[in-house]
Parts: sequence; C-alpha cells; structure tokens
Amino acid sequence: MKLPVIISLLSVVAVLSVKGAGKNKSAEPAAKPDMSVLDNYFPVRSFYISLPAADMADEFIEFVRGDLIPGGFNNLTVRVNWSFPFLKHPELVDTGAWSVEKIGELVKVCREGGVTLVPMINLLGHQSWEGRALKLLQVYPQFDERPSVKLPSEYKYPNADRLYCKSYCPNHPDLHPILFACIDEIVDAFEADNFHAGMDEVFDIADPYCPRCQGMDPAAVFAAEVNRINAHLKARSVRLWIWADRLIDGGNSASGYGEWSASLNNTHRAIEMIDRDVMMCDWHYRIAEQSAVLFALKGYDVITCGWIHPSITERQLEDLIRFRRHSSKYTGQRYRGFMQTVWSGFPNFIKELRNGSDQVDYAARNYTILKEAFIRYAKEFAGKPLEEKDGRRLTGQ
Ligand SMILES: [Zn+2]
Repeated sequence: MKLPVIISLLSVVAVLSVKGAGKNKSAEPAAKPDMSVLDNYFPVRSFYISLPAADMADEFIEFVRGDLIPGGFNNLTVRVNWSFPFLKHPELVDTGAWSVEKIGELVKVCREGGVTLVPMINLLGHQSWEGRALKLLQVYPQFDERPSVKLPSEYKYPNADRLYCKSYCPNHPDLHPILFACIDEIVDAFEADNFHAGMDEVFDIADPYCPRCQGMDPAAVFAAEVNRINAHLKARSVRLWIWADRLIDGGNSASGYGEWSASLNNTHRAIEMIDRDVMMCDWHYRIAEQSAVLFALKGYDVITCGWIHPSITERQLEDLIRFRRHSSKYTGQRYRGFMQTVWSGFPNFIKELRNGSDQVDYAARNYTILKEAFIRYAKEFAGKPLEEKDGRRLTGQ
C-alpha cells in the first residue's frame, strides 16, 4: 500500500472516530447493502477475462474470493482457449494450463460465492493473433479457412491480405470431433452449465477459395456452426453463449456500427437462423449502442458488455433498467445484465487494481466504478422490486 493511501485511510479513521464519539462508542463501518436486490435489474453481473497462466492461479482465485464476489458479481466468464490439460488431445495443450485440481479450487470458490462460472474457447474466428497461429491451426493447419494467406513476420492492419485473425473452416469433416472432445473436457472440469464459444470478429468465412465453403451464404455458414455447437452442448444441458457482433448489420444504411462491433461481411442475417436459446453478449465499448433491443425483440436473451469508459458503462446500466422497465414482460426479462470485459490480461488488470496507474486500457478503473454503481443501485432498489416501480407494466398488460 502506498504511503499517501495509508495517510488518507488514517484520516478517514480519525474523522469517523471524532464523528462517532458523541453518539456511539465506536465508529461502525457503513452497512453493505443487500446486493441480491440487483437481481431484479441486472440478473447477470459478469466479469470477463482471460484465465491467467497457472503461476498466477492462486492470486486469481484470491481476487475472485476477496474482491469480485464481495463486489456484487455473480458471473465469471474466463477465456481458457487451449491452455488446458486435454487428455484426449494432448497435442493441443498450450502453455500456462492449470491443473484440473486447481480449476476445482476456482469452481469451489465460485460455487460458495454464488458465482456462475462460464469457460470459453474462441471458436470459428480468432484462431491466430497478429503473426502467430493459435494452437488449433498450429497443430491442424488443414483446418485453416484461407490457407493461402500466410501469417506475416511483421503484422500490420490493414494489410493486403485483409488478415485480421484466421478462422477455421466449419465445414471440414475432421474438425468437430476434436472441438467437441475439448469442449467436453473443459465443461467437465469447470462443472459448467454454460459455455462461451466467442465467435466474434469473424472475417474469414465462406471463402471463395475454400473447396468446402465456396459459394455458400456466409450467414448460413455462421448460423450452422453456432447451431452445431449449440446442439452438442444442449445434449449435455449446457447453454451456449457467443459474442453478438456478427449478427448486427454494420452498414451505414443499417446500424452504422462498422465491421468490428457489427458485421460488414454478410453474416448479419444469421440472427434469423440461430437457435433462440443461445445467449447473446452484445459488446459496445465506445458508444452505449441500443442493439440489445434488437436481440431481445428477436427472442434472444442478451447481456450488454462494456470495457473501459465509465460514462459508457453508466449509460449501459441506465439503459438496462429502462429496457426492463419499459418492455413487455416477455421482452423485459431478456435483458439479462451487464458484463465487464477485460482485454489486457489478468496480470495488467490486477496490477492496476492494486497500485493504480494511468493505463486506462487495463479496465481496473471501470471495474472499480462499476462496483460503486452496484452498491449505489443496491441501495436505491432496496425494498423496491421491479414491478412495483413500473406502474405501466403492472397496469398496461
Ligand atoms: Zn471452408
């Protein structure tokens, strides 16, 4: 702890002691509000991060136990990818994997803290990062949707190949037995009822040079892969979550969101083709876009996702309350809540959270402000269930 922090804490204690001296024998800390009242407005309060390497497992578990759970979160979504001790496919094991026993410790802490744990493998897209193929395409290059595009030694975007991240070919006949075996092992180890498959920012899809996908509708290819994974998970009573960006028309004649948080590569019509029990994670980091409404009206459960801008996060929370209040009982309940995403990794995040820094991309400041918002809303909502605050919903239906 830094010296100024200690001094300021001592000052606070001194002030509390003086204030309390006249009334009470000792200053009592402010009672923490009952965070469960948030369930009416934000049933899912999620934190998303890449699971750190095994050498930080204890620190991560302690963060979950000591900070995340007391902070009012009830969901932890962790990107595992291939850093897992796969028994059936040891050739795919990446560095930093936790043991199954250590994962069990995290499972126990989450269960005792009322936190739903959602493991993730990035599927379809995000099979490379900059100039490096990730484990699946390292081991099985034949699954590459665009094998003619070679990974550059010095990656830049944009580039002539229009390479952002590589995708696997979802129509390769040898692919899914491997994927499903890996998913199953991860679901088992995390004792998970939900699995996040990523599937964001898929740029390589239905490539005209892929012998299996050429001539196919990108929306149909995308939807078929989502539904294929969903069918596998559903057979095990596990719910599929995905990022929602490929299902929004990003063109200026539609949403105007562009090619990252929406689609400019003709996948957006898949919104009509995907099983309605897939959970949509609708991410917008620079503007509090309203696309959660699109998903709810189409019949999907949707989680609004934010990142580093507190003013955007505050608006997204306000929108969620408004959406739930001013929607039919069928639509209103589909706005499931909010997800704080972290894209800088746990080591950077925890360093900033503990010590403070000016590196806003690490998301610790936004996380801290989100926790404060949870406390504020918990106080405001105490004793006021959603229906009682919304006369229109009670009387208008
Ligand atoms: Zn293909």
